[in-house]
Amino acid sequence: MSSKIVVGVIGLGQMGGAMARKLFDSGYETVGFDLNEDVLAAAVEDGVTAAKSTADTAAQTDVLVTSLPTPSIVEAVYLGEDGVAESAAEGLVTLEMSTISPDTTRSIVDESGLTMLDAPVSGGPEKARSGDLTVMVGGESETYNREDVQGVLQAIGQKVYYLGDLGAGHTTKLLNNQIGSAVRAVSMEAAAVAAVQGVDWEPFMQVVRHSSGSSYQFRKRMPRLLGRNFEPGFSTSNTRKDLRLALEMADTVDAPTPITSIVHELYKRAEGEGLGEQDSISIVKLFEKTTGVPVESKMLFDDDYLEWKDI
Ligand code: NAD
Repeated sequence: MSSKIVVGVIGLGQMGGAMARKLFDSGYETVGFDLNEDVLAAAVEDGVTAAKSTADTAAQTDVLVTSLPTPSIVEAVYLGEDGVAESAAEGLVTLEMSTISPDTTRSIVDESGLTMLDAPVSGGPEKARSGDLTVMVGGESETYNREDVQGVLQAIGQKVYYLGDLGAGHTTKLLNNQIGSAVRAVSMEAAAVAAVQGVDWEPFMQVVRHSSGSSYQFRKRMPRLLGRNFEPGFSTSNTRKDLRLALEMADTVDAPTPITSIVHELYKRAEGEGLGEQDSISIVKLFEKTTGVPVESKMLFDDDYLEWKDI
């Protein structure tokens, strides 16, 4: 890796903050910006250099990562006043790592002419911090193959896939989250039933882990759920946003989405009930309202109790 280039990260939340720390630990001079001053200050404590604004970040970096909540915020950060397009340093490459729609990415590039790859990620904050993300890349292959771009992608990704034209990464990411969100929702629903049935959690989890109901979502989320840990790794609001985007994308090709529509409605309700900033497993509280029985265990399980990290 070349440590001479400067990497910028705009959006230092759960994902962007973890990626910025990982890039710094990997030897990159890492400049970051976030509207939330506390989040920015915490990243600075871990080695990230604070920029004053989006414009200030874009003006001093060679490879810029954006990790932001919604398509409209991404659009504003790139195309708005003092945005990336206006302020980009000569030769800047941007890696758009938020979960947004492929149409947004394509329109940003159409309007700005920026050199950009869409490179959304899967894996959550823990894997972002350890550099073990799955990265899904779309855009010009010449840009993808550049040494500076490869260095940054390899620093944060354990598995990096080049998927084709601009937008291919965001398309794949939305499809992945469509599947993951539905599996997570039904896992929470079943857990609520299990609590009423009074199952013994330890053997229950082991049986499902080794049976046809097993999934990454079940293995990753169940230990946290039983410990009632609703601190956001991946928030309810972000889940709802991803489902909405997946539905919109499917609609552009007239594809049916009956299951995703129901899951989206559940997450919309959870957000309406004030669970937006909690982890996406907080959807279980909707089911618990009806059953009256909390999904919890006296025995505490480590987050990796069901060995989700090896997937
Ligand atoms: P987050 O809310 O923790 O972080 C987003 C950050 O962006 C916040 O700190 C916020 O202050 C900052 N921000 C908002 N507007 C800004 C602006 N105009 N300029 C600068 N900073 C701004 O969200 P997250 O969980 O880190 O997710 C970021 C993106 O990554 C989302 O699109 C999400 O869907 C996606 N994602 C999240 C996960 C996960 O597990 N958390 C996994 C994969 C992808």
